Amino acid sequence: MIFTEDQLALREAGRKFSRERLLPKYQQREREGRIDRALLREMGGLGLIGMDMPERYGGMGVDAVTTGAIIEELAYGDFNVASLAVVQSLCGAIVARNASDAVQDAWLPRVAAGEAILALSITEPHAGSDAGALRLRATGDGENYRIKGEKTSTTFSDSADAFVVFARTGAESDGTKGVTAFLVPANAPGLHATRFRDVGSRMSGRGSVFFDDVTVPIDHRLGEEGRGFSEVMSGFDYSRALIALQCIGAAQASIDEAWTYAKEREAFGGPIARFQGVTFPLVEGETQLAAGRQLAYHALALRDAGLPHTVEAAMVKWFGPRTAFDVIHQCLLTFGHYGWSMDLPHQQRLRDVMGLEIGDGTAGIMKMIVARARAGHAADTKRARPAS
Ligand SMILES: Cc1cc2nc3c(=O)[nH]c(=O)nc-3n(C[C@H](O)[C@H](O)[C@H](O)COP(=O)(O)OP(=O)(O)OC[C@H]3O[C@@H](n4cnc5c(N)ncnc54)[C@H](O)[C@@H]3O)c2cc1C
Repeated sequence: MIFTEDQLALREAGRKFSRERLLPKYQQREREGRIDRALLREMGGLGLIGMDMPERYGGMGVDAVTTGAIIEELAYGDFNVASLAVVQSLCGAIVARNASDAVQDAWLPRVAAGEAILALSITEPHAGSDAGALRLRATGDGENYRIKGEKTSTTFSDSADAFVVFARTGAESDGTKGVTAFLVPANAPGLHATRFRDVGSRMSGRGSVFFDDVTVPIDHRLGEEGRGFSEVMSGFDYSRALIALQCIGAAQASIDEAWTYAKEREAFGGPIARFQGVTFPLVEGETQLAAGRQLAYHALALRDAGLPHTVEAAMVKWFGPRTAFDVIHQCLLTFGHYGWSMDLPHQQRLRDVMGLEIGDGTAGIMKMIVARARAGHAADTKRARPAS
């Protein structure tokens, strides 16, 4: 990817902030297990949150490639702070495209300023990959919608200020066509959230969100009734490429630290960097990261050009997190027994990137998307078997 001068300048701003302000406290933020709101506001002030939102809402209106470049840099310093930026970009785009003017005015400037956090609630206890089977029910009376049911596995469950929620307004037999999206403020009466004890990303928090007859005005509906599913799916093509860059950014930090260590650590009378058994795995890892990075930027460049990029985004959504996991694993080993300590960041990066082998769609689902694009109906798992 060859960046423009403007893109390079914004990437550099993200890099400077990330290495000076995020990296030194990456592990401390995990120990504290909460979002530092002052840091978020600082990022908002610098344009590092919601950078792709329209300028009238306080964003910079930058393209997808530039957003990806900033997110990759943020993840180098703190994977979970970068998650905040990814989810705000994804949810912000859904709100900007579909919400009423009043709802956009009320929320988007606060998101871009780092004053409000949006979360995305699709997954339910019985349906994750098969998101079209969701059951959370929204019933409209012409003025309001009443929402009842349970979402689970929502990132930022107990810190979000509002949720982009996907609920069923049609019959279950309507499948994805009976799904509508809403923006639901976290302080709406009847809504409460929990937090899970997760393997990684403990700063972000993930949990269930319960809706006990939560009422939202009709203007909090996002888009037309029954159109929620197609809306979010196009957003996923964006977030999948961003997530790949997020994982690659985190792995690049481990690689850079491993190179430094390989030059400094001595064994058998000299630096371990003279052993090809040490350097070649790092070279292989760095090569794979470079390949994943190019595919991610290619998907984003296609998006910026208004061209289809579903396949490229799905490819890099499985390849990016998996590659990042393998590379960080190798870096941890490069540090020998020091790498096995909780004091070094590699174990945390390993746990953090692994979550995104599942979140936003598993590798199995990504491969299914690519297989369907290539093999058409022959690869459709929902197709009825021909009678024998
Ligand atoms: C860190 C993290 C963050 C998350 N954040 C959010 C969030 O903010 N909002 C939200 O709504 N959800 C979120 N999720 C939930 C996530 O999107 C779902 O977990 C994911 O879509 C998988 O759904 P599931 O867990 O129900 O697994 P299932 O759908 O039950 O799948 C179980 C296994 O079967 C495989 N499988 C299922 N169907 C197929 C198929 N057709 N072909 C091949 N393999 C298949 C899957 O790949 C998986 O390995 C998050 C999850 C994690 C781990």
